[in-house]
Amino acid sequence: MEKSAKIYIAGHRGMVGSAIHRKLLSEGYTNLVTRTSSELDLRNQQAVTDFFAKEKPDYVFLAAAKVGGIIANNTYRADFLYENLSIQNNVIHQAYETGVKKLMFLGSSCIYPKLAPQPLKEEYLLTGLLEETNEPYAIAKIAGIKLCDAYRAQYNCNFISVMPTNLYGYNDNYHPQNSHVLPALIRKFHEAKVNGTPEVVVWGSGSPMREFLFADDLANACYFLMQNYNEPHLINIGTGEDLTIKDLALLVKKVTGFEGALTFDSTKPDGTPRKLMDVSKLHSLGWKHQVELEEGIHLAYQDFLAKHI
Ligand code: GDP
Repeated sequence: MEKSAKIYIAGHRGMVGSAIHRKLLSEGYTNLVTRTSSELDLRNQQAVTDFFAKEKPDYVFLAAAKVGGIIANNTYRADFLYENLSIQNNVIHQAYETGVKKLMFLGSSCIYPKLAPQPLKEEYLLTGLLEETNEPYAIAKIAGIKLCDAYRAQYNCNFISVMPTNLYGYNDNYHPQNSHVLPALIRKFHEAKVNGTPEVVVWGSGSPMREFLFADDLANACYFLMQNYNEPHLINIGTGEDLTIKDLALLVKKVTGFEGALTFDSTKPDGTPRKLMDVSKLHSLGWKHQVELEEGIHLAYQDFLAKHI
């Protein structure tokens, strides 16, 4: 990508898109195109058509999506399916129509079957049933992968799909009910410390295992792959390391300085027992993450304190 190339970052206000935006600025890119969701509703086909016809970007990072944690995914099932399909259909199709040189579609590790062998290799896609709580979101993301593959096969478009593991970082969503586990725990432990609450309630059994990647590391990987990866096959992005939700809670407890106890609410769902990415393909290309989990939680906690307190 030339430094003057016109690059559209869809979703630049979100955690992932804002990290990609920062990365491109720091690399000296000068022609970045962004729109807030009130300026451009990506669910609106005509609006997206008009936008692409006017701007004609050279490259696209598709980081816009409706996202949320286990309860949000399970509660707003129609919205997660419909809105994500609409956004990606509109953007991917218009990228084809206007001759975009390369597009990166961002998916998620939840596209893999619930009971797939671990770690999750790229070829496990569509080999089994999905996790029920986030099936609508996963189906939309799988459709996006297949759409990129189909435009490549039929029209020779250089559209690639990357599958990040669970993410956290700057500009995360800290909503008490709808956020993902890591921001939710940062908020819960912080509030318990400040309010002198004796215990923090962690959802589920605490035994599911999850992998976490700092969003700025993800942005570095996306930048790296935009330059070095041109294959029809999806590629995982993660650390290749995971831990139990209980150990995660203990780590967040340590970082936030909460001194009380942990309890587990078994009425809340556990979700997939484990989803650890196999990152050997990414590592073989020469990319590895830099921010370790404890350091990343410190950075995210500072960002939470600055923006939400
Ligand atoms: P998932 O990775 O799609 O299952 O989504 P989440 O990040 O929302 O949840 C991951 C795991 O953390 C699940 O087993 C949740 O039950 C557990 N968990 C524990 N406490 C919380 C919490 O306060 N919020 C969320 N979202 N998950 C929690």
